[in-house]
Amino acid sequence: MKKVLRVFGFALLLFTFSFSYAGEKIIVIDIGHGGKDDGFAVDGFKEKDLAFEIGLKILALNKAEDVKIIITREGDYFVPLKDRVEHINSLNADYVISLHINSHKDAKVNGFEFYVSDENALSEESKAFAQHIESSISKEFSSQGIKNANFFILKNIKTPVTLIEMGFLSNPDDWKLLTSVKGQDKIAAAIYNTIK
Ligand SMILES: [Zn+2]
Repeated sequence: MKKVLRVFGFALLLFTFSFSYAGEKIIVIDIGHGGKDDGFAVDGFKEKDLAFEIGLKILALNKAEDVKIIITREGDYFVPLKDRVEHINSLNADYVISLHINSHKDAKVNGFEFYVSDENALSEESKAFAQHIESSISKEFSSQGIKNANFFILKNIKTPVTLIEMGFLSNPDDWKLLTSVKGQDKIAAAIYNTIK
């Protein structure tokens, strides 16, 4: 079930999403798939590898002293969802982003998608976080907006969390972006700019 969420009021967004408090912010970047789990694959390019490349680039961009970025996978290995969630919940993060790449039988479908779960205890905070990222990303890339999905990871992380599908490998333009170093740099910078 996919339900497009309504756009939230700006006042609510400003109220619930703020990085302005003192102290170090911990952002966890969950890198989807890995090992035996390739995710989607098109023309030899695998979701697990591309998400990993972009995750590493986001990590490398971080020079902010008050932001600590932790990635959940540091190589190509499989981490069961339950273990992923337990690990993430042990990190005391302020926000969690799960990086994925999409595919569709219709090659015309393109753009970013953002997912949150209305079954998460912090669903309102998660929506505000997703809205903050989406409003910035959609200035630079095409976006399908914020949708609801009760994925295991989105339901069970005890921190505001959004899953970002960073484009469709099945779409020629997105494919070019996702599989080129230049495109990956652009995506990583756009995401990093929303969390730094
Ligand atoms: Zn995925």
